[in-house]
Amino acid sequence: MPEKMLSFTHVPQHQPAKRPVEVRRSDFDEIYKDFAVAEAATQSSRCSQCGVPFCSIHCPLNNNIPDWLKLTAEGRLDEAYEVSAATNNFPEICGRICPQDRLCEGNCVIEKGFESVTIGAVERFVTDYAFTQGWVKPVAPREELSQSVGIVGAGPGGLAAAEELRRRGYQVHVYDRHDRVGGLMIYGIPGFKLEKEIVLRRWQLLAEGGIVFHLAIEVGRDVTFAELRARHDAVLVATGVYQARDIGGPGAGLGGIVKALDFLIASNRKGLGDDVPEYESGLLNADGKHVVVIGGGDTAMDCVRTSVRQGAASVTCLYRRDKANMPGSMREVKNAEEEGVKFRWLSAPEAFLGDTSVTGVRAVHMRLGLPDASGRQSVEIVPHSHFTVQADLVIKALGFDPEPLPAMWGQDSLDVTRSGTLKINHRSFETSLPGVFAAGDIVRGASLVVWAIRDGRDAAGQIHAYLQPSARREYRAAAE
Ligand SMILES: Cc1cc2nc3c(=O)[nH]c(=O)nc-3n(C[C@H](O)[C@H](O)[C@H](O)COP(=O)(O)OP(=O)(O)OC[C@H]3O[C@@H](n4cnc5c(N)ncnc54)[C@H](O)[C@@H]3O)c2cc1C
Ligand code: SF4
Repeated sequence: MPEKMLSFTHVPQHQPAKRPVEVRRSDFDEIYKDFAVAEAATQSSRCSQCGVPFCSIHCPLNNNIPDWLKLTAEGRLDEAYEVSAATNNFPEICGRICPQDRLCEGNCVIEKGFESVTIGAVERFVTDYAFTQGWVKPVAPREELSQSVGIVGAGPGGLAAAEELRRRGYQVHVYDRHDRVGGLMIYGIPGFKLEKEIVLRRWQLLAEGGIVFHLAIEVGRDVTFAELRARHDAVLVATGVYQARDIGGPGAGLGGIVKALDFLIASNRKGLGDDVPEYESGLLNADGKHVVVIGGGDTAMDCVRTSVRQGAASVTCLYRRDKANMPGSMREVKNAEEEGVKFRWLSAPEAFLGDTSVTGVRAVHMRLGLPDASGRQSVEIVPHSHFTVQADLVIKALGFDPEPLPAMWGQDSLDVTRSGTLKINHRSFETSLPGVFAAGDIVRGASLVVWAIRDGRDAAGQIHAYLQPSARREYRAAAE
């Protein structure tokens, strides 16, 4: 039965139910249950179909949200899927892991007074349902072009660009140093936020669409960047940011102090069925340990919640600002609190204690000071406020910087910004090297999956524009 719209005045917001804490704490399955068809329709019908859809404006992909909500409410799910897929290559992924509270849902007009429409959950539902109905098909180019594009990086930025270029008929080759496709979606983000099958399903579809993957190939080691440029008519760099920010101080070199991404990759590989010696040896395994995670972003939240699931004896998160100033999604902080993680806000590590392996973290309380040039409040130490937290595993989750690509690839004329990200012309997405484009975190710095998709799509459009004159010459030659 089709639902009428504007039902927000009498239908309350319902997010998909979460699995009980005691169950979800012990596995890596997603914590949210699926919407049933009727529930998705009812929740979609809460949309007010407002004249200026702020949700779309604040979605990095400018998704036509009110349109697919209306179609879902009316039970026209095939059309809802078509509209949703027209602007987003991986709607079911964004529906799961976008920080909706800061993007679409946070700007929903009915949010004030009635709580937002559950946009992310409906977006996820529509494409998951489309997969069950066989509506999601590999790209099928209408014609084959001879030009090829080499893409370095199989994360969301590289993959979105790959699909858009393949759709236009280009021969697309994606290179990645990992042995699986997905970038941080496969090896960074844990299964309790995004089950691995969701990413693997996309990989298969992209390969069926004719995109060629060259995996376990590191550009700069197994193939030079110059070779890659010679091989392809254009190159897109979508390598993400992977240089982990470090922390010094007394005891920083002790055993048992590890990098967040090493810890998460080991856990994700284990879940995918790989042999992971560092996990088996206990080096990258929180089982039975007192864990301290340092940081307050998405990576820190993923580390604390992974530690809980691995059977840690206790999990404490140290963050130097307060809860309101955390960069991570509030929804994830709430989930972590429910799962038993202890947060020590306004706390920063000062020294790591122990002889050979860490046994504790000596920390100090902080207070927020005046805003700095960026508008963010500075932090300062509260004198004589030391305390110690027991720890036999310390995970450093302090953020990531770009790797020094020009040096690693022997490309002195590849220009970078002061923070080391690749410098591009923001209209053409072209770097300082002709025919070399860049997108995603390597341009923005650590950001979001949805922004990487947006950049990948835009960069694909610009690569097409760059290659088109020669494509036109090719058509003419073929016609003559
Ligand atoms: C732990 C963690 C949790 C996160 N959680 C969220 C979240 O919940 N929601 C969200 O929206 N965002 C989240 N993010 C951020 C998000 O994952 C990134 O913004 C996004 O993946 C960036 O996409 P990308 O395509 O630019 O790069 P990446 O996803 O990093 O992919 C880059 C790829 O390039 C490959 N590569 C790098 N150098 C080379 C080379 N020389 N040769 C060959 N291949 C190379 C890498 O192996 C990788 O596969 C999270 C990030 C982390 C670290
Ligand atoms: S892509 Fe992200 S921001 Fe855009 S509608 Fe979907 S969940 Fe919201």
